[in-house]
Amino acid sequence: MPAFPDFSCFSRLNDKDHLMRFLCFFLRKKETYSLQRSREMTDILIIGGGIAGLTAAIYALRAGKTVTVIEKESFGGQITSSPRVDNYPGLPAVSGNALADAMLGQAMDLGAEIEMEEITALRRTEQGAFAVTAGNKTFEGRAVILATGARHRPLGLPGEEALVGHGVSYCALCDGAFHKGERVAVVGGGNSAVQAAVFLADVCESVTVIQEFDHFTCDKRDLEAMTAKANVRPLLSTKVSALRGGDRLQGIELTSQTNGDKTELPVTGLFVSIGRIPDTEVFRDLVACDENGFFQTDDQCATNVPGVWAAGDCRQKAVRQLTTAAADGTIAAINACRYLG
Ligand SMILES: Cc1cc2nc3c(=O)[nH]c(=O)nc-3n(C[C@H](O)[C@H](O)[C@H](O)COP(=O)(O)OP(=O)(O)OC[C@H]3O[C@@H](n4cnc5c(N)ncnc54)[C@H](O)[C@@H]3O)c2cc1C
Repeated sequence: MPAFPDFSCFSRLNDKDHLMRFLCFFLRKKETYSLQRSREMTDILIIGGGIAGLTAAIYALRAGKTVTVIEKESFGGQITSSPRVDNYPGLPAVSGNALADAMLGQAMDLGAEIEMEEITALRRTEQGAFAVTAGNKTFEGRAVILATGARHRPLGLPGEEALVGHGVSYCALCDGAFHKGERVAVVGGGNSAVQAAVFLADVCESVTVIQEFDHFTCDKRDLEAMTAKANVRPLLSTKVSALRGGDRLQGIELTSQTNGDKTELPVTGLFVSIGRIPDTEVFRDLVACDENGFFQTDDQCATNVPGVWAAGDCRQKAVRQLTTAAADGTIAAINACRYLG
């Protein structure tokens, strides 16, 4: 008998609707887990239950396909760590959790099969379908959508995780407006960091850009745009060494890389832009990735493997937002449905 499923994804159940959804999920699971499983082939396996994966599920289910969404941690993905989203069209000031719950509920109401598992391998079967494995479990599908997302690279400082959404952010475009008229800092020296600084300069009182090396690694054009902003102060050869504040960020400690001197910088916003880590490692044997580990796709979200699509933050692209994740999920699902006929 398989291990009983982990319901931690539903830990935020706080109203009647969510409770009902949980009970339906529970009853369906209980039935499944109490019978010896003879799993049928699913039309589409979706790996990752973030915004891209859940959107793909909604589109595929509405097209009449059977869908299994497999999520390892928390349905909704990254956005569940954001207390307020202000740029999802039609839903101003929605919390990340509320958005995730609504999407998960919609997918489940349409008949999505939900699994809480971490997929560790993907392979083609002899019949030309696909099999993914999680521990000793195997799930089979005629097509696969990889929607495994990406993690922002954290600074790794004590207290950082607790301050996310309370002053520490990994997305200036998402959270910059919450710091209107405030003094903020950006960590990083590449294109994303410098573009974040340019964006924040128009919103915030001042922006300090902290780069550990003695030069910026961004494009010349981005650097010129940043230099043209009077309220942006670049700080080279400097590292953020500590975060200050209790419930909210109040400042940061800086350490000079040249002489080790420590200084304090009072800021209420810290935008960390030191790279992203795509969750693609376990699929790289089969699916082609770029040099940074993002799935390589065409504009139809097709990978190098016929029958496998990639959607959302895990694929190589320029803009990683909720709307682009949802757009990818849509495109991948429609193409997967066409492939299945
Ligand atoms: C704090 C924060 C605030 C943000 N605010 C905004 C905002 O205001 N507006 C905006 O547009 N964007 C915002 N973003 C960005 C936005 O959240 C992402 O662009 C979007 O959620 C990406 O969705 P996704 O489905 O592609 O990936 P993800 O949300 O990363 O979902 C991928 C899912 O796949 C699962 N997974 C990964 N590997 C496996 C595996 N092997 N097996 C099973 N499951 C797996 C993960 O657990 C995860 O749940 C924010 C991001 C963060 C972190």
